[in-house]
Amino acid sequence: MQAPRGTRDFGPNEMAARRGLEERLRNVLRTYHYHEVATPAFEELELFLAKSGPGIRDEIYDFKDKSGRELALRPELTAPTMRFYFANLKMEPKPLRLFYFGPCYRYDRPQAGRYREFWQLGIELLGDETPNAHAEVLRLALQLFEEAGLKNFVLRVGHLGILRALLEEAGVKRADQAPLMRYIDKKDLAALEKALQERGGEKAADTILRFFQLERLEELRPLAASPDAMTAFQHLESTWAALAALGADMTRVRIDPTIARGLEYYTGLVFELDAPDLGAEKQLLGGGAYDLSGVFNEQPIASMGFALGFDRTLVALERTQVPPTTPGRVDVILGALVPEAWPEAARLAQILRKSGRVVELESQPVGIKKLLGRASQIRARHAVFLGTKELERKVVAVKDLDTGTQSEISAAELASKL
Ligand code: AMP
Repeated sequence: MQAPRGTRDFGPNEMAARRGLEERLRNVLRTYHYHEVATPAFEELELFLAKSGPGIRDEIYDFKDKSGRELALRPELTAPTMRFYFANLKMEPKPLRLFYFGPCYRYDRPQAGRYREFWQLGIELLGDETPNAHAEVLRLALQLFEEAGLKNFVLRVGHLGILRALLEEAGVKRADQAPLMRYIDKKDLAALEKALQERGGEKAADTILRFFQLERLEELRPLAASPDAMTAFQHLESTWAALAALGADMTRVRIDPTIARGLEYYTGLVFELDAPDLGAEKQLLGGGAYDLSGVFNEQPIASMGFALGFDRTLVALERTQVPPTTPGRVDVILGALVPEAWPEAARLAQILRKSGRVVELESQPVGIKKLLGRASQIRARHAVFLGTKELERKVVAVKDLDTGTQSEISAAELASKL
């Protein structure tokens, strides 16, 4: 029997690579003083409907439990984290820096880099919406990929305030902007142009279409004409300067005022990070400033976050031939040559394990040839064995499998001498 469509089993090599990457990413988060939170794998369906609208139902795993509660496997972790925040963490001193790492579930069409069960690592910064704080979030996003060892990636940054102000100018009220934002998000320029022309917004249409070509911050300034657009531009400009002060490699950062992120709850700065080598599923991370307080009937709190696609990051690392972490090497294989020596072999195995060594203990007495055969199969560093003679003299025989030399070490000194 196979794992369900869109899900995967992970063998020892894959798990070693996954844990290796997880460790590196966690380490970066720790140095930025982010704290881990965890929420359930399933939530009330209503949470995701309230966040993303009824259309989300087609894209998620929802179900009724045995008492008729409507539940859903989480498709992402921002809504659950904010639910938890408003329920239990509201009183924590600000700014509050949270991170999560866990599996998410979406009823997506499976393909390379797209799964029905996948892992997201993400952060939420709560209570600070200054450009400097936003810049630090962007710096963190970049550093995660730097520490992962990825060579080729680009961070694109935009601001919804600029797009929204232009749409207003073109006669599209805030409440009617959603479909156009979706065209922009999907880069469907034909549909966008048509929709704007229908509203007589030729000039704004022109400007928005020019957005799709520009890459430098300075090119954007003259296009941010209205006061609202200018405020947004200035936020972007200050964030840019702070990002440089934080030592970001600015050759990896581009302006992209066409990032729309499709969803209503984003409020300002938005960004996406891609690995251009990956083709269609190249987006590794996405995020922005948002406001989900309305979903919970709470007072607004400045919120900013991103989610990193962990599986896709691993695919990107494989493509760029970054060597993955491999399963740890066995330090010692330990065997008794006769049944009477087994209790002593077991005692020594425990001493070595307590000292942090990885030890494989043969469960049955073995011959030397068989022990050495197994040692090379599992690529052990040392083979340690003892028979009647060794037992009497309180020593063990040690074969160094890298050099091929064999020696005798007193049992009492084994852990310190190996
Ligand atoms: P999103 O929550 O849609 O902004 O996704 C954040 C990141 O998660 C994306 O940039 C992808 O890297 C990753 N991601 C989203 N959907 C999937 C999926 N079905 N399979 C694998 N990774 C995904």
